[in-house]
Formats: sequence, structure tokens, C-alpha cells
Amino acid sequence: MFQKITDHVYWMTPDKPDRPSLAAVVGERHTLMLDSGASNAHARLFLDALAGEGVRSPRYVALTHWHWDHVFGAAEVDVPIIAHAETAERLAVMAGYEWDDTSLDKRVATHEEVESCARDIKLELPEPRVVRIELPEIIFRDALDLDLCGVTCRLQHVGGDHSRDSIVAFIEPDRVLFLGDCLYDALYARTRHYSTRRVFALLDKLDKFDADYYIEGHNSTLMDRPAFEAYSGKMRAAGILVNKIGANETAVFAAARARGPVDEDTEFFLRAFLAGL
Ligand SMILES: [Zn+2]
Repeated sequence: MFQKITDHVYWMTPDKPDRPSLAAVVGERHTLMLDSGASNAHARLFLDALAGEGVRSPRYVALTHWHWDHVFGAAEVDVPIIAHAETAERLAVMAGYEWDDTSLDKRVATHEEVESCARDIKLELPEPRVVRIELPEIIFRDALDLDLCGVTCRLQHVGGDHSRDSIVAFIEPDRVLFLGDCLYDALYARTRHYSTRRVFALLDKLDKFDADYYIEGHNSTLMDRPAFEAYSGKMRAAGILVNKIGANETAVFAAARARGPVDEDTEFFLRAFLAGL
């Protein structure tokens, strides 16, 4: 689904097999694309949808982190790429990889690649598979402001468990925060988990943005501020509880239930924090 969500922001919702959210920030002079898509076909779908709305094609694309589903479409977008320094480092490594099935399977065996990612790459891009990793030209470490004329976008490094290079994009005056995958659990790890240290630091950074709308990398629902605060509040509360009680799963869940019903989100957060101890 492709939609205009605020005066300057267009959003294409996530899709199968693992296509993430893509967005365009449209100023009077320039358009900025947020994330480049899981393949040339995915990027093309977005670019054509933008053109269909009469929107100027992107002048830049900013990547939220280095994971394949956010970066493989960059060659199709074919404009200068903006990325965090650690994203750029990872892309330079990926540019040296082979992407055929045999090479993917080998990297899964050595834990350099996640099995579910290899599976989704095969679905998104059947063999013979051509992947051209484009390298960023504009690199930042903490934050970068873009003035697109009439609308600004702050790219801010936030890190987190999912990928430590994660950045978010804050769009004003629309007050939209494009989160990428920063809220998700650690993916390239032996066990998927959250660490309280990283999650608390991440949530503290996200709370500083005065946003009205929140777009997640793999969530088709646009969150408003109360929804974001409820979700991030559950995440923080789960972390505080696990920090307090420690590695005893039964005791952690008993304490959580004593405070009220444990919903699906809280159950997931508790288990992921326990796995991160
Ligand atoms: Zn990711």
C-alpha cells in the first residue's frame, strides 16, 4: 500500500517476503527517499508510485541500517546514498560477497548470515541473482540535517540491539519519525535478544523527538504518539522488571502477572530481555 500520510511524507507499507517500509520526504526543491528497498523491483515499485503522484524523483536516499532488505534496491534508485559510518563499513564488506545460493548457504553455516534472511533473499531474488551493493557517498556519525525546502529531515544515530548502526529520520514540520528497524531485537546474534542497557539508551533517544507519527520498518500500522508511548512503555517496563529480578523466568513472569495481564508484546519483551542477560 502506498499513501500520503502527511503534507510532505509518502509511505509504502511493508510487504512479503521481507520488504520493509519505504518513504519519501518531499520538499519544494528536493525529495529524499528513506531506505532503498529489498531489490531493484521493490525500489522500482516505489519510484513508479511516486512518479504516479507527480512527485519529483529522489535526490538522495538515506539508509536506516545495513541489512539486505533496506539496501539492495539502492542501485535502482541510482542517487547519492547517505548513511551512518558503520552502515558504510558493513556495505563495503557486503560489496565483496557473492550472493548465489551456494555462497549464501555457506555464510549461513558459518553464522555470517541469518538463516531467515538467506531464505527471504532467495524468495525476493530468485536465481540467477544479481546484487549490486552501492556504497554511500555522504557519511555521518551522530546526526545530519537535510533542508529539502519547506521541510527538513534530521538523520540521527540511535543504535539499539537490532543493528548498532541504526539511525532514525525525523521530519518537520510533519513530526513524523521514521524508525527503520531500531526497536527490534538483535538479529545477527546466536540467540535473538534485547539488552536492557541498549534498549534504555535507545528509548531515551527516541523520547527526545517531539513526534506525532511513527513508521516502523516492518509494521503496516502507522503508530500515533499514544500508541508509540504504550508500546515503548511496555518495552521499558519489561526491561526494568528483568533487571530487578534477574534470570529466574518463573519469578519474572509471576511478578509481571502480579502487576496485571501480560499481553503478547510484554511476553515477547520479557523473554527477549531474559535471553539478553
Ligand atoms: Zn533490520
